[in-house]
Amino acid sequence: MTPVEASPRGWGLSSRIVALSLGLLLLVQVAVFGVLRNSIEKSARSQIAHELEIGERVWLRLLDQNAQKLRQGATLLAADFGFRAAVNSGDIDTIKSALENNGARIGATVTALIDTNLELRAVSDSPDLVSLTATLKLMAPGLSRNPKGSQIALVWGVPFQFVIVPMKAPLVIGWVLMGFPINQGLADDMRALSDMHVAIVNRAVGQKGSVVVSTLSGEALKNLKANPGDVNELYVDGAMFVARSIQMEAGTEVGAGTVTTLLFRSFDEVVAPFRQTQVALAWVTALGVILFGVGSVFTARRVTTPLRSLVSASRRLGRGEYDVPMEHTQRTDEIGRLANAFDHMRLGIAAQQLEIRKLAYWDRLTGLPNRAQFREAVQLAIDRHGKPGDVAQSRMAVIMLDLDRFKHVNDVLGYANGDRLLDAVAKRLAALEIKSSDMVARLGGDEFAVLLTHCDAVEAMAVAQRIVTSFEEPLAFEDQMVDLSAGIGIACWPVHAMDVDTLLSHAEVAMYAAKAKTTVVQMYDPAQDSGSKQTLSLLTELRHAVEHGELRLYLQPKIDLRHSEVTAAEALVRWQHPQRGLIPPMEFIPFAEQTGFVRQMTLWMFDEAARLWRDLQTHTQPLRIAINLSTRDLLDLDFPQRLDAMLLKHNVPASAFCLEITESAIMDDPQRAESTLNRLHERGFKLSIDDFGTGYSSLAYLKRLPVDELKIDKSFVMAMEKDEDDAKIVRSTIDLAHNLGLSVVAEGVENAIIYNRLKELRCDEAQGYFMSKPLPAAEFGAWRERWQQKLIVNRAESGQSIPMPLM
Ligand code: C2E
Ligand code: CA
Ligand code: CA
Repeated sequence: MTPVEASPRGWGLSSRIVALSLGLLLLVQVAVFGVLRNSIEKSARSQIAHELEIGERVWLRLLDQNAQKLRQGATLLAADFGFRAAVNSGDIDTIKSALENNGARIGATVTALIDTNLELRAVSDSPDLVSLTATLKLMAPGLSRNPKGSQIALVWGVPFQFVIVPMKAPLVIGWVLMGFPINQGLADDMRALSDMHVAIVNRAVGQKGSVVVSTLSGEALKNLKANPGDVNELYVDGAMFVARSIQMEAGTEVGAGTVTTLLFRSFDEVVAPFRQTQVALAWVTALGVILFGVGSVFTARRVTTPLRSLVSASRRLGRGEYDVPMEHTQRTDEIGRLANAFDHMRLGIAAQQLEIRKLAYWDRLTGLPNRAQFREAVQLAIDRHGKPGDVAQSRMAVIMLDLDRFKHVNDVLGYANGDRLLDAVAKRLAALEIKSSDMVARLGGDEFAVLLTHCDAVEAMAVAQRIVTSFEEPLAFEDQMVDLSAGIGIACWPVHAMDVDTLLSHAEVAMYAAKAKTTVVQMYDPAQDSGSKQTLSLLTELRHAVEHGELRLYLQPKIDLRHSEVTAAEALVRWQHPQRGLIPPMEFIPFAEQTGFVRQMTLWMFDEAARLWRDLQTHTQPLRIAINLSTRDLLDLDFPQRLDAMLLKHNVPASAFCLEITESAIMDDPQRAESTLNRLHERGFKLSIDDFGTGYSSLAYLKRLPVDELKIDKSFVMAMEKDEDDAKIVRSTIDLAHNLGLSVVAEGVENAIIYNRLKELRCDEAQGYFMSKPLPAAEFGAWRERWQQKLIVNRAESGQSIPMPLM
């Protein structure tokens, strides 16, 4: 799973955003609720306390009004003429009935007459006179001292409010006392006036107390009755009542105890309007949650939708689809910036991809398709053309060409000119009029190819000839003219190959065959192929030969013709092949030169010769070893240094070696060869021109080079015995060389006649089978020993140095 696809089961970003914002909102709302509730409760409590306080005043006023009414009634009675007369006459019955009548009129239950001594004279009829009398007696003095007041006392377990009024005539002749029960009616009045419940609790000393009057009912009353003590709050079905207790004097010793009025205010009633606010707030909250939810879903969408599109865009990028532009780039926020950054990235990657494709499929230098693209194009052409059965429709051909001497142009004229040459070739090939389905490509280095569709061998040959023609005009580089030429090979489909790789490799084989035969254009021929396969395996084997010591160094002596002494030996390579036996150099040297492997071989020879050199020296005669160099060695700029290293390694002087260079090696690239030869000459190597006479260089030219020796090719020497022309060539070469200050060596000396002829012609040295074939290095010492011995014998016998017989 890729990271972008992660957590499909987990919470997505948008649900998180929504949950978080809703959670925060709810948290805030809960806090608001808490605070609100607290303050509601607080203010409700204080409001209730205030209301109860007012309630107390109302209650007391109510009691006061009651007392007022009583007092009026008592005052009327006290002023009543009949009553006074009865009092004066002491007519108790009349007094009693007046008391009862007047009391009943104003609702006073207890009415009494008290004399000036505060003794009870008469009392209205009542059930328990004894206790009433006792109570009144106790109360009368207090009341008479404060006639404007009233007093509450318990009578028969009921709270009574008492007032007292004096009877004056004009002096006080007695007191009228009236008592009024504080009963349900009063409580109901209070309830009607004040939204409050009232309960009157009578609490005798040492007793639990009892509810005497109450506006409460049912459960509330029951609860109060159960605990009528010091009540602050009363709960009924979870609803709360706050209570306030008003202490009312009982003030009598008879019923000793207290009377308390309890006022109850319903908490819920007070809070009810606030509750509405709370409910409204709850609604607002609910609405807020919905709005917030919708809002945050919308916001989250605004964030996550572009994120999702970014994710799918990056997936597209991952799949290599770069052409779909990013969405949301027109937004001005961070998302927009991110989308823009993504879009830049997309374009950047697309450009890079294009560049990479270019690098992968195009040749930078020439702008032509490269090998990869060419191969694909050939493949495509093969695929498109379908069945090879329909030959007329589906023929095609591949032309492959490899420039001649390109490496030399590079080395001598510099890489910049090498590049210009490649570019010029590309232009000339591109100028060929080919079909749009055809293709010209640079396969690499100096190798080019042309794909020709709907084209048979004859037509392909014609195109190849057009290429040759287009190469005829040389290229001009500043002051230099460079000839263009190439080896051109052609392979046709499906005649020569059925698949792309075989087709290309056959075109290549044909191209190498063209180079080898110098025929310029070559059509593929299966016979070439076996050769090329052998070539490959031969190279592997040759490499193996050097690494596993299969090469052998043979030495062929060079004899100084004046004294018949062995002065030098040419080192010649042999290959001791494990299966094929001893292989002569002509079977592998040309190939080694062609592939460049010869450079390794030369170094091997040099190394081996330097190693042997010291052992080959005798005190009388030093021996110089001649080493053959190839064209490749001369073109290698590092070659002289490599030889330095060898000399140093074996502690051998440069003068111990003669380096043989063929004319053709020099003429391949005269400038480069000259510079290398100069450097070798400076080091003290003797330089010799090998196979002289087979090339076309003039002696005068060669003289410009720092060479010391000419080696007349064996073809002239071997034939000089019979062919006068060759003899003339040999003679004039010797003379000319001498005139130019060069020494002369003749190779191919196969018999005494030639040997003597050369001696007469004052040739300096001779090499050939007459003296010795090339010998394994190990046998060379013994051979020289024998040569030296015979030389001494001959000198002794005939007094002159004469050649040795063939050994
Ligand atoms: P080359 O440099 O001209 O060497 C002389 C060749 O002539 C040798 O052949 C030698 O065996 C042969 N030869 C010498 N005297 C006579 C004679 O009297 N009659 C005849 N018919 N042949 C004679 P070899 O050793 O087969 O070498 C052939 C060529 O191979 C050499 O020609 C040289 O071009 C090349 N070669 C041999 N060894 C090396 C080497 O170590 N390095 C390079 N670069 N080329 C080598
Ligand atoms: Ca040679
Ligand atoms: Ca030679």
